Amino acid sequence: MTWRNWARSQSADPREVHAPVTVEDVRRVVERVRERGGSVRPVGSGHSFSGAARPDDAQLTLDGLAGLLHVDQARGRATLLAGTKLHEVPALLAPSGLAMECLGDIDRQTLAGAISTGTHGTGLRFPSIGATVVAATLVTGRGELLRVSETERPELLPAVRLGLGALGVLVDVTLQCVPAFALEAVEATMRLDAVLDDWMGLNERTDHFELHWFAATRLAATKSNTRVAGPLRPRSTIGRFVDERVLTDSGHRAVLTAAALAPALAPAVNELSARLMPRGSFTEPSHRVFASPRAVRFRELEYGMPVAAVPEALREIDRALRRADLVLTFPFEARASAADDAHLSTAHGRATGYIAAHRWWREDPRPLFDIVEPILLAHDGRPHWGKLHSLRAPELAERFPGFAAFLAARDELDPDRTFASSWTRRVLGH
Ligand SMILES: Cc1cc2nc3c(=O)[nH]c(=O)nc-3n(C[C@H](O)[C@H](O)[C@H](O)COP(=O)(O)OP(=O)(O)OC[C@H]3O[C@@H](n4cnc5c(N)ncnc54)[C@H](O)[C@@H]3O)c2cc1C
Repeated sequence: MTWRNWARSQSADPREVHAPVTVEDVRRVVERVRERGGSVRPVGSGHSFSGAARPDDAQLTLDGLAGLLHVDQARGRATLLAGTKLHEVPALLAPSGLAMECLGDIDRQTLAGAISTGTHGTGLRFPSIGATVVAATLVTGRGELLRVSETERPELLPAVRLGLGALGVLVDVTLQCVPAFALEAVEATMRLDAVLDDWMGLNERTDHFELHWFAATRLAATKSNTRVAGPLRPRSTIGRFVDERVLTDSGHRAVLTAAALAPALAPAVNELSARLMPRGSFTEPSHRVFASPRAVRFRELEYGMPVAAVPEALREIDRALRRADLVLTFPFEARASAADDAHLSTAHGRATGYIAAHRWWREDPRPLFDIVEPILLAHDGRPHWGKLHSLRAPELAERFPGFAAFLAARDELDPDRTFASSWTRRVLGH
């Protein structure tokens, strides 16, 4: 059966699809594929825009390996099966009073998938999800079970914290969690220049700051989330529905329809859309604030760069787009994150700012990405592994300081390239 990713940018007809329900099953699948000289790609929820999860041969899903294995209450750590979906984690951790420290914009991904491409949220003091991995169990390319932790092969942790599915099949991961917390969300519409002039200050004063900017408008929709002890001030069910479904998703559909029918109207509709982005404040459990539904499909390119470079890069994009003849109906997004130590992390060794460009899935994203990508590259950008970009292994090796160390770990854990695909050959070189 044909497999397609969420964004409809990748598809494949895998020769075999395996859905193991035990670790021993995973081991056997890997062994068998290796013996016949084939390859197998683990897949999560298919939410990568890039070909990261696309199989050339066999596909392996961990949908049957989900759930909580163990909580170390004293150290605030939880061990979960790697096929667990992010949206399942809050209920699993609720009895122990723990939560994941930071999430991205959605929670449909699997833990293994999110970790394997460097999924991040926003917040200068908060790194990617993979950086909170303190231990993991993998089935390696030779079908062996390998435990990596602070005391077992600790030198492999920086590889396993962002493994691209190229080192082995993650079967469980132990996350450093934090006591469950609430977030006070303040959503506002600000002048773009005011936000860019104070970009570092806004990020330093707020735990989790992000902006959405509709090109051709001078407005930015901002979201500032602050960690608070309580009390909760939740949106009503109708308020949440209006925020997430009417103002963002359905509002967005209206923009897309208007732009398709009358491109000349797009700037005005974008302006309206920016003004209609949710505004106000509420306090809810962290996972309800971090993540929201995304019902309108799109394609995305995202680069991480030194955090202070974001305002200038966005201004350059603004200038370049004014010279271009493009009708854009999705906003740019800018976020920040703390440095981490994963070899292939966009935030390896540096506090990072992110700029993401989106285009509706029915439109060709290349004209937009061709304008934006060179600007992000010129600001020392590193592409997100789960998103679209044009770089190949030699260029990636220059941008990711841990590239060679990652390849060395791969040589050890998957010497026969049982987890290889055309995508890994493009981005890792072989
Ligand atoms: C609407 C939308 C919003 C998004 N928001 C954000 C965001 O806010 N921040 C951000 O950083 N990213 C974001 N992303 C990107 C997304 O988080 C990543 O692409 C993520 O990797 C997808 O997880 P997945 O479970 O769908 O994995 P897949 O896309 O299915 O797979 C991703 C990678 O993980 C590997 N993998 C899967 N399972 C295993 C396993 N068991 N063992 C080893 N490797 C495995 C695959 O081989 C592949 O290389 C978003 C994507 C979408 C579509």
